[in-house]
Amino acid sequence: MADSKLQHIALISVHGDPAIEIGKEEAGGQNVYVRHVGEALAQQGWRVDMFTRKVSASDPTIVEHSPNCRTIRLTAGPEEFIPRDSLFEYLPEFVAEFLKFQKESDLKYPLVHTNYWLSSWVGMQLKQIQKVKQVHTYHSLGAVKYKSVTTIPLIATKRLETEKLLLETADRVVATSPQEKEHMRSLVSLKGNIDIIPCGTDISRFGQVSQEAAREKLGIDAGSKVVFYIGRFDRRKGIETLVRAVSRSQLRGQADLKLIIGGGSRPGESDGLERDRIEGIVDELGMTEITTFPGRISDEDLPLYYAAADVCVVPSHYEPFGLVAIEAMASNTPVVASDVGGLQFTVIPEKTGLLCPPKKEIAFGEAIDRIIGDSQWRDLLGQNARARVEEKFSWDGVALQLSQLYSELLQPASKVSDRLSKRGQA
Ligand code: UDP
Repeated sequence: MADSKLQHIALISVHGDPAIEIGKEEAGGQNVYVRHVGEALAQQGWRVDMFTRKVSASDPTIVEHSPNCRTIRLTAGPEEFIPRDSLFEYLPEFVAEFLKFQKESDLKYPLVHTNYWLSSWVGMQLKQIQKVKQVHTYHSLGAVKYKSVTTIPLIATKRLETEKLLLETADRVVATSPQEKEHMRSLVSLKGNIDIIPCGTDISRFGQVSQEAAREKLGIDAGSKVVFYIGRFDRRKGIETLVRAVSRSQLRGQADLKLIIGGGSRPGESDGLERDRIEGIVDELGMTEITTFPGRISDEDLPLYYAAADVCVVPSHYEPFGLVAIEAMASNTPVVASDVGGLQFTVIPEKTGLLCPPKKEIAFGEAIDRIIGDSQWRDLLGQNARARVEEKFSWDGVALQLSQLYSELLQPASKVSDRLSKRGQA
């Protein structure tokens, strides 16, 4: 990395502000990914500027996170929250503002790492204007998503077309799991260069507190059986499956069973509808006594909740990676997850947790019972889970792989051709 020290790079995340409070509105995995990758890359010697769209006039334009890592909010369209499916029309303004920022700061980024299809469009425009390498992470693929939704948004055609063009023209696409790569190949295009570099988690933040101590701090009885969910309130997250699964638990009535459904905005904000729907199901199934909705869990408390849980459930209909699974695993907590996408990569069935067909509440119920009904096995799964995260999914390890990729792409063409010709001679 020595020759790339202190080179500037831009991470572009038009709709996922890396400086925002996670759990708010559409904020989730992408915001966490960009923020952590940015900070870890800065520690490895890059100057990282993370660009996003300003969603509130009162938000500062520049947020300094750590030395050499900052978020820059560009004004593109009204300074208010706009759902991602309605953002495309503001992208030309985003590109213009990015170019203006470069000019005013006397900078020209040699590499941009774009996130989600909206930012990929921005990156492709920049490539037409200046010499820049583009690395891209999809976070979600339209071709996968539209298979599982009943109403296809108007923007779908544009998205699918952009995702295909991107895969075929980006200097490198990062798939966060082998399953995501497979989907790109089977559903998007056979052309283009893909590397697999997973998402990561902070292994020194999670897994540092025992279950007992965490429960004491949160006021949860030592003898309870705790089933935990954290994430956005979105129908595709499958929270309904979890609620129905727990309602069937054989342990209901026998043990002190608790279901904690964390995350989500405050009442009245954009995910309120799904939250109301889930609360309605909890009520209908007579589960209000055993279910709590703590809302957005603070950064400080999240490691405690993961540690306090007997099992963390990720019932998503689809997940290209699924950060929650590895955060729970890093906290020595086994995971019951849907047998889809990146969850098939992170969760090893019978070793670090269990996988169930998505939307199948009976299978989820049985899997949850198997784990919470056998504390010794639960602890063993939890230990294996932690070991897997330490080995494969630390942010530092992930950032090192990205850093090597950037360095490779930024090498002068002569060095690359030297290397290729040496390879040829060998
Ligand atoms: N998260 C959080 N607090 C909340 C809700 C979510 O910190 O109240 C975080 C969670 O810990 C994880 C991310 O948001 O890091 C969700 O990422 P994931 O990949 O699981 O789902 P996505 O939001 O990308 O669909």
